[in-house]
Amino acid sequence: MACTNKSKIKGFLEEKLPEQEMKTIEKHLENCRDCQKELDKLLNDNINLETEQLEVDDAVLISKIKARIKGVRRITLYGLLGFIIGVFSRFYTRDDFLLTKAVMALPYKLAEFALGIFFSKNTLHPWEGMFYRYAGEMGFFPYHPILDFVATSLTPAIIASFIAVIIGYLFSDKRIFIRRKIINFLLAWLIVFLVWTGVLYGTYGYTLAKIDSLSGVTGMTIYKAEKNSTSWLIRIDQDALREEKYAELVAAISQAEKKGKKMFPQEKNGFELLVDFKGGGQIPIYLEKNTGEMIVHNGDAYQVSPDKMELLNDLPGGGK
Ligand SMILES: [Zn+2]
Repeated sequence: MACTNKSKIKGFLEEKLPEQEMKTIEKHLENCRDCQKELDKLLNDNINLETEQLEVDDAVLISKIKARIKGVRRITLYGLLGFIIGVFSRFYTRDDFLLTKAVMALPYKLAEFALGIFFSKNTLHPWEGMFYRYAGEMGFFPYHPILDFVATSLTPAIIASFIAVIIGYLFSDKRIFIRRKIINFLLAWLIVFLVWTGVLYGTYGYTLAKIDSLSGVTGMTIYKAEKNSTSWLIRIDQDALREEKYAELVAAISQAEKKGKKMFPQEKNGFELLVDFKGGGQIPIYLEKNTGEMIVHNGDAYQVSPDKMELLNDLPGGGK
C-alpha cells in the first residue's frame, strides 16, 4: 500500500508545506522507503533538464535538483580524494606534519586491522624473516610481494574513500540526501570489501599451491651462502632460462622430492635461492652443497638429485 504521505513529498521539496508539516515529513522520510523513492523520482527524473527546457517552473524545486546534482558531484569527488589519500597512506610515517600524518595513518591502520582479521596467520615468524630478504609492506602476503604491495595500497584506499563518501554525504543538504541511506552505503561497501578479501584470498591460495608443488618457476636469484657470508651469484631470468643449462637447473629444483620437515641450518654451506613463481609468488630456498638437500620457506625439506648439483657448482663463482 502506498504511503499516505507520498503526495506531500513534492510540496516538501518545494518548501510549500507549513513549517510543522515540513518537520514531520523530514522525520518521516528517514524511515519510509516509499517516500524516499518518491523524493528520488522527483529529483532524478528532472536531472537532464539542465540542457533542456525545464518542465517544472518551480524555482525551489529547480534549486533542489541543482543542489542534488552538485551534491552527487561533491560526494564523488570526496570519494576520489579519499581513494588517493588511501593509496598513499603507507607513507604516513614519513609525514612530519601531525594532522596530515593522522589523516593518512587512520585508513592505513584500519586496513591493517581489517586484513588482519582474515590474514594475520600469513605473516612471517621472526625466524622465517631471517632467511627471507623481502621486507614486506603490511606483510599479510609475504610470498607474493606484488599482492602484498597491491593489498597494502588498495585496502586503505577502499576504506578511505568510504569514510570520505560518508563525510561528503553528511555535509550535504539532509532534505535531499536522506541520512538513513548511509546504511545502504555501508552495506554496499561491506560487499565490496568482502569481494576484495575474497580476491586476495583466492590469488594467494593459487600462488601457495604453485609454490607447494614447486611448479611454474619463472626465474631465480642465486646467492652463495657460507658460514658468515652470503654473496650474490647470478640472476636467472626468463631470457637466461632459454639456455639449456639454466633450464635444466630450474627443472632439477622443480622436480626435487619432498622428504619431510627441517630447520634452516645456522651454519650454511651451499646456496640460497630466491625463486619466482608464475603469478608473482616468491620464496627463499636453502640448498646444501654436498648433499643436495633443499629446505624451502615453510621448513619443508626436499632432495635434489646429487648429480644435478654439478649445475650449481658450475655457475660462475659457484665453485667447489
Ligand atoms: Zn511515507
